[in-house]
Amino acid sequence: MKITAKKAVVMNYHLTDDQGKVLDSSRGRKPLSYIQGMGNLIPGLEKELEGKTVGTNLKVRIKPEDAYGVKEARLVQKVPRNQFDAQEIKVGMQFEVTQGDDYKVVTVTEVTPIEVTIDGNHALAGVTLNFEVEILDIRDASSEEIAHGHVHGEHGHQH
Ligand code: ZN
Repeated sequence: MKITAKKAVVMNYHLTDDQGKVLDSSRGRKPLSYIQGMGNLIPGLEKELEGKTVGTNLKVRIKPEDAYGVKEARLVQKVPRNQFDAQEIKVGMQFEVTQGDDYKVVTVTEVTPIEVTIDGNHALAGVTLNFEVEILDIRDASSEEIAHGHVHGEHGHQH
């Protein structure tokens, strides 16, 4: 069986950036289960996994455009310090801001007595991702799993 749309896949993965820093990994943890073609994974990785079979080991390098996007300067904003009440603001703090009907997470990247710089880019925006993947299992996803958009049962989501 090959990985195609609506197949439930179980895999080990190890993710590093170009400097070799580990960003995420299933090593020492449970493998990851996902359904192909449902947007569970970043687009670049789904594309690389399409058509692969059980037992395949692959190393792939995925550019930001096919991962978490490029960094956008317009998402970096300076906000007057006095808009933050008296609470202590530190570099690295994250909070949610509303944007129309949606909300997003922003990270504080600089603090001066006058201004606070917040960055609304994804933490991995602009980062090239290096994946090592081992495919452990492939099966047809159930109609319930397809309706929910995620895997159920062992390794997956429990209801
Ligand atoms: Zn479910």
